[in-house]
Amino acid sequence: MTADSSPPVIAIDGPAAAGKGTLARRLAEHYGFAYLDTGLLYRAVGQRLLDQGNVPLEADVAVAAAHSLRPKALENQALRNDETASVASQVAMIPEVRQALLRFQQQFAASPPGGAAGAVIDGRDIGTVVCPDTPYKLFITAGIEERAQRRRKELRERGIESIHGRVLQEMKDRDARDSQRDVAPLVKSKDALLIDTTEMDPEMVLSAALDHLSTKGLASL
Ligand code: C5P
Repeated sequence: MTADSSPPVIAIDGPAAAGKGTLARRLAEHYGFAYLDTGLLYRAVGQRLLDQGNVPLEADVAVAAAHSLRPKALENQALRNDETASVASQVAMIPEVRQALLRFQQQFAASPPGGAAGAVIDGRDIGTVVCPDTPYKLFITAGIEERAQRRRKELRERGIESIHGRVLQEMKDRDARDSQRDVAPLVKSKDALLIDTTEMDPEMVLSAALDHLSTKGLASL
């Protein structure tokens, strides 16, 4: 528990395919915390619009979808598709969608499910907007070429062949939308530790994160 007796939260932000998810899962396991991938929330709203044939999207339909989101919707495998990611980054620009999803995220942080002692939450605005008061913040990034390669590898493992130039362009478009939007843009919080994973393997990233969190006073179990 932190000074105000709310459970500790590790906030992880950064662009797509930088290694946030891998690190978040490992930290959650290490500390026995619950893990929330907030990209799934935006993806689930985007997927709902795709399923309803509401793309190009209308803001009020997206807002209604965000308000009616149920945890079950986060289990849909289709959420991992790049088409869904692209619509997700468009719905993520709508302030009322962000507001509706903010509640879900803050509730998760305040009462991590399964009685976990804390939470690991990853996304784009966790250290800046969702949990700005947590002292445990990490900003994970990597070069765009490396991130595009990682995304292609991930797609290949799912049996999907992709074209490098297209994956790279989609990632650049999404980075631009996420970094340049008016509300809660992707930006490193001043007090976050920056880790550039371009030349690091997951073990090295975990070890850098654990060192930082322990200097900030987060004790292991
Ligand atoms: O993390 P992931 O790539 O699954 O996120 C999909 C999209 O959802 C992002 O490109 C971004 O537009 C949006 N998102 C966001 N804020 C978050 C998490 C995701 O705007 N906290």
